[in-house]
Amino acid sequence: MGGPPALECPPMRAPGRRLRPLLAVLSLLVCAPAGAADRTILSIGAHAGDAEIATGALLARHKRLGDRVVMLHLTLGEGGNPKMSPAAYGEQKKREALAAAQALGAEVLFGPWRDGELRDTEEAARWVADVIRQVKPTHVITHWKQSLHPDHAAAHRIVNAAVLLASLEGFESAHPRHGGVRGVYYADNWEDAEGFTPYLYVDVTEDLAAWKAAVTSYEFIRGGISSFPYLEYYEALARVRGAVAGKRFAVSLEVDPFAKKRVLDALP
Ligand SMILES: [Zn+2]
Repeated sequence: MGGPPALECPPMRAPGRRLRPLLAVLSLLVCAPAGAADRTILSIGAHAGDAEIATGALLARHKRLGDRVVMLHLTLGEGGNPKMSPAAYGEQKKREALAAAQALGAEVLFGPWRDGELRDTEEAARWVADVIRQVKPTHVITHWKQSLHPDHAAAHRIVNAAVLLASLEGFESAHPRHGGVRGVYYADNWEDAEGFTPYLYVDVTEDLAAWKAAVTSYEFIRGGISSFPYLEYYEALARVRGAVAGKRFAVSLEVDPFAKKRVLDALP
């Protein structure tokens, strides 16, 4: 898949006064913010629905900015419906995941693991590393390290190991090394709240409707399977994160403590 086309921007030489407002508008329309449209964001969740519910609004925003957005669901989360067999619910979850991805404008990939059986093994890290080498993300988002759900905690460790493996020349696979991950971020997920402190806040005010349209592809998010009020919780969470960020709605992300270290020549 080729990269995005180069953007032509209006010249920055001083225009006549009458043209200035027009050029300012053109700049906004034609010239994406610095760094935009060269991002590939890979959001990795343990179960189909995790990436969308916690990061879907962020993905919708970046799609709108011209970036490539990809989701990897390590399992379908097919064990979550007591009224259906895992096989039947797995088929439903896959259909729902495809619909959600289409609504977000995201590509979607599925891992080979079964719900509840995700383990932090070298084999799993190698499999995800191979996906990273193929997708070539600039940004990776996954679960925070502490979770109520063992699959989520395993996903955190697998993904971190995979980002490193993918970058190593010594790790041999069918695809060349990828060392272009600029950052690994952790999603704000109600099951992964222990020790999660919001670090980055991204304004998603313009993207909440797209998020809602996408996530309601899932029956468990619309309600009726779990007693947890997913849609209300995550909309309220986006409002709470937005409130402290001075925005209407925001998505927050955590990073590893070592990633917070900043070395400067002087105070910013
Ligand atoms: Zn999950």
